Amino acid sequence: MDSRLFDHSHTLRSSVLAGLSLFLFAVALAFSWLYFNKQEFVLASIYLFFTLYSLYVSRLAAQRKHKHRHIQCYVYLMMFIICISTYLQPLADGLYLWTIFCPIVLYALLGLNQGRLMSGIVLLAQVMSVYDDVIQVSALNALTTMVNLILCYCGVWIVSHRYEFNRENIENSLTYLASRDALTGAHNRLSLRAAFNHFEKHRSSVDSLSLLLIDLDYFKQINDQYGHDSGDKVLIETAQILANVVGEDNLYRIGGEEFCVTLFDTVLEQAEKMGERLRSAVGTHLFYYREQTIHLTLSVGICEYQAGDKLTDLIKLADKELYRAKHNGRNQVRICQTVEYAECQPQAESG
Ligand code: GH3
Ligand code: MG
Ligand code: MG
Repeated sequence: MDSRLFDHSHTLRSSVLAGLSLFLFAVALAFSWLYFNKQEFVLASIYLFFTLYSLYVSRLAAQRKHKHRHIQCYVYLMMFIICISTYLQPLADGLYLWTIFCPIVLYALLGLNQGRLMSGIVLLAQVMSVYDDVIQVSALNALTTMVNLILCYCGVWIVSHRYEFNRENIENSLTYLASRDALTGAHNRLSLRAAFNHFEKHRSSVDSLSLLLIDLDYFKQINDQYGHDSGDKVLIETAQILANVVGEDNLYRIGGEEFCVTLFDTVLEQAEKMGERLRSAVGTHLFYYREQTIHLTLSVGICEYQAGDKLTDLIKLADKELYRAKHNGRNQVRICQTVEYAECQPQAESG
């Protein structure tokens, strides 16, 4: 769920990809021209291909049209070109220096796991290429070049790894804080909107959605009778009970003592049964506060998504049923029947 809310990693990678591909477009073009002039047509053609591909990727990234597979393809191609250039050209050309750049690019564009794996593979490939030169040239400076390359690469690798590890942790914490309610730990309204947007986007694979609006009955009396702290404790415990029944990912606290539940792939009849389970789970639970027993009930209003509904429409529909449940004496579940649907529609109300 949280990953549906914000994707800062994707935004960051888009921005790195846009800048990097533009830079490498210019570099690859210059190298292609250089190697054509040197009549080294294999390398020149590889660089020319990479020039065009960099241009294509930079256009995609600028328009935010790229997918993760575009990033992967681009990075793998870049690594292949760095490795093949080091292998084909003499050490004196200095193309192996581009190796040091690899861990930063790999971690920034592929993330922690793939970054770690690919950094290891690239180091191995490059050490083998340079070692080949060390043996053939058998010069001392070739050996020191290889040792320096390995040490420098490992230094950059460690820094890139620590940086990405911390960045991902910070991102996860921020996403958690932004998507949760501070008191109960349940998802918040922002998270509900993200889940609904996700449902709308993937509606072909998820057929139906039922929305349950839950309001605790006479909750104010708990605050008045036992104090605000007891009210807080009851809210936290209630959220846990509800989450145990519907699953943590489907529960949202959307107001003081109001919760919302999303049930995907669930029709109204099943949702009603779930509403009854929730009502019974809370109704039969005994809350303890300073050796006192608190009894609590809840009311539930349920509606089902119809094509074209907005989230606010659904909440209004469910709220209308909730109001009826309250009006009828509370501690009950009410559903918006299909035959009543037109009548329930918020537009009908205003019209
Ligand atoms: P009803 O059955 O009609 O819903 O009655 P109610 O008393 O539950 O409804 P009302 O809206 O009058 O009261 C809700 C109360 O919830 C008022 C407010 O003090 C309390 N409340 C809202 N947020 C919190 C919270 O975070 N902690 C505590 N302890 N109380 C809260
Ligand atoms: Mg209320
Ligand atoms: Mg209430």
